[in-house]
Parts: sequence; C-alpha cells; structure tokens
Amino acid sequence: MKKVAILGSTGSIGTQTLEIARTNGDLEITALAAGSNVERLEAQIREFRPSLAAVWAEEKAKELKSRIRDLDVRVVTGMEGLIEVAEQPESGILVTAIVGMIGIRPTIAAMKAGKDIALANKETLVTAGHIIMPLAEECGVRILPVDSEHSAIFQCLNGENRCELHKILLTASGGPFRGKKKEELREVQVEDALKHPNWSMGRKITIDSATLVNKGLEMMEARWLFGVEPQDIKIVVQPKSIIHSMVEFADGAVIAQLGTPDMKLPIQYALYYPQRRYLPGERLDFWKLGQITFEEPDMENFPGLRLAFDAAAAGGSLPTVYNAANERAVALFLDRKIRFLEIPELIERCMEEHKAVKAPSVEEILQTEAEVYERIEQMRH
Ligand code: NDP
Ligand code: MG
Repeated sequence: MKKVAILGSTGSIGTQTLEIARTNGDLEITALAAGSNVERLEAQIREFRPSLAAVWAEEKAKELKSRIRDLDVRVVTGMEGLIEVAEQPESGILVTAIVGMIGIRPTIAAMKAGKDIALANKETLVTAGHIIMPLAEECGVRILPVDSEHSAIFQCLNGENRCELHKILLTASGGPFRGKKKEELREVQVEDALKHPNWSMGRKITIDSATLVNKGLEMMEARWLFGVEPQDIKIVVQPKSIIHSMVEFADGAVIAQLGTPDMKLPIQYALYYPQRRYLPGERLDFWKLGQITFEEPDMENFPGLRLAFDAAAAGGSLPTVYNAANERAVALFLDRKIRFLEIPELIERCMEEHKAVKAPSVEEILQTEAEVYERIEQMRH
C-alpha cells in the first residue's frame, strides 16, 4: 500500500487528494497538516486515521487535540510540526498542497528523509528550484508534478529523449479578465477576480490566474522541473483549458496532453505514476467541443507575466522577490487594502529596489522574503 502524507490537506488540492484516496481505497494516509481549519481536519482524521496531524496555529492545535482526544493521533504545531509531517517515517510520498514559500523547508526535509514529492506548491520551485532539483537527484527521490500544465508536460515527455526537447508550450486560460485593457482592470473587485472561467481552486492561485502571475510562476516552475531556459518556454493562451500543455521536439513534432479541466487527473497521476488508474468523471467530447482556439498572451495589460520573465532572466534571488512581493500583494488585495493593478506594481517596485543575490541559500531566500515584506510595509506608510 502506498503511504501518503499531505501538507495542506484541507485546501483545494488537499481535499481532492483525499477524494482520490477515498475512491481508490488503496492509499494509506499517514499524516496530515493544515493551517487553521480544525473542523475539516478533524473530519479528515476520523475518516482516514493518520497517526500524525499538524496545525500551524498553536491555539488551533490545542483545539484539535481536545476534539480528537478519543483517537490515538499525535498533534504537532508550527514549522516543526510541518517538518515532522514531511519526515514522517512511515510515508513514502509527500503531497505539498500548502500555499506559499512556507513549503520550502518541509519539502527539503521530506527529500532528505527519502520521500518522493507530489509537488503542487509551485512557490517552492520558483524560489528554490536551484536547490530542490539537485537535492532530489542527490537523495534519489522523484519530484512528480501536480500542477496540471506540468503534469501535461511530464506526460508528453514519457519515453522521449529529453535532449531532443526543443520548446515547452505552456498553455494558459488567460483568466477571468482575458481581453480587458488596463483602464477596465483598474476597478475590478475581489469577487470578480475570484471567478475563474474553468478551474475551481484556492483563493491565492485564483487571484494569480487573474493577474497572469500564475503563468509566470508556472514558467519558472517548468524551467526547473524540465531543465530548460526561460526563453525556451512559450506561453500559449487557450481559453477553454482543454490542452493542458504541449512540448515541441527538435524535428518540429508537437505532443499535447488534453482532458477536461479536473485537477484529480494530475493528482492521481502523480500518486500512482507510472500507472494510470480509472478516474470517474466527464470525458472530452470533441464533437461537442467543436473548436480549440489560441492567442498570444497580453503582457502589456497583464505586466505580472512580463515581470516573471524578467525575474527568471535575472535569476538568483529575483524570482524570490517576484514571488514574495506577489504573495504579500495578493493577501493585501484579498483584504481589500490595495487595488488589482497594484499587485504587479508592487512586484515591479520590489524587483527594482532589490540587490540580487546569486544562487541564494534557503536562509537567504527566507531573508529576502522577510525584506520584501518589510519593504511593502514601508511603501504603504
Ligand atoms: P488552498 O488555499 O485551497 O489550500 C491551502 C492549504 O494549505 C490548506 O489546507 C491550508 O490550511 C494550508 N495551509 C496554509 N497555510 C498553512 C500553514 N502555515 N501551515 C500549514 N498549512 C497551511 O490552496 P490550493 O489547494 O489552491 O493550492 C495549494 C498549492 O497548490 C499552491 O501552491 C497552488 O499554487 C498550487 N496549485 C493549486 C492548484 C489548484 O487547482 N488549487 C492547481 C495547481 C497548483 P487551512 O485550510 O487550515 O487554512
Ligand atoms: Mg496550473
């Protein structure tokens, strides 16, 4: 039986991972971690019976302890707790379904403990890809992509010779504001930005999809996962999210992976790789679909994507600045403290004011994150 631990089990990816475990019935859930949603976590613990559970907030951890005092489950908290879940001796694979750079340290801990990683937490690769990828090789563990585009690329590369890979064609839906100009984007509200046309996801990534920052993060994620240069990744807007991404080989052949927009497919593929399992749900009907259309991405009105290419080209600590500034800006936008267009503006200002560090260590990455947070605080006062 495959033994699975999950960071962020109460979120969008986390709950879908557990749905797959429920349907297949042959995955053992060994440890779960969440931020503060102890009600949902309790229900998950009662159903899947892990031996370890982590809750970020100490108060909430106490609450969970008392809620499940009839069960033999150890409850841990804080970063130490996340690391314990990541290193849990019984498990073979860790699903990183937590949001943000907080995923870096537990991911590294899991790899060092010999666990394969089913990676949803793209922020980890964006900021620390230069550490994570060589470490995976050193530890002999796999990084299996959960992000739908990266799973698609991974599937397209199955059995192919990596050195014949010419280009990655990373598809994008364009988000809820595709086709809009800056003037129209000025007044958009949190509710509008949270309405993604095709995917139902957590709040942070949904905002990232509206600014196209998500595609920028995915470009950097792809760069590390597949060992390509940013200029070899082309963004192709495909509004219906039917093609999940494509690869172009040296001879000009293009291979694509298609499917209905359902995250359970890439999650299940990562969990059972290289096996494919039956997955209930709608199938693509090309007769009904009629057509699939393509567009160029609009980097003028959505500067968040352009800035990602700038950050990737500069390298070093710049991707961390891009990511950290975005994390903070999205939180401020969700709190209605800043406007939509201020998200890329804050990212750009932080990138301009940053003194880059080459090949930053984990400590330097976290230091850069703290500096960016402080800078944004100062800018706002
Ligand atoms: P959600 O916001 O839905 O879920 C986040 C999860 O992380 C929750 O379980 C949350 O717990 C937990 N969490 C947050 N902060 C902490 C913390 N400090 N300590 C422990 N747990 C914490 O996010 P998503 O599932 O949408 O996204 C997760 C990751 O996957 C992101 O990196 C995202 O970019 C990536 N991803 C998501 C996709 C999707 O379809 N949703 C697609 C591709 C990638 P709590 O509920 O208690 O707050
Ligand atoms: Mg994606």
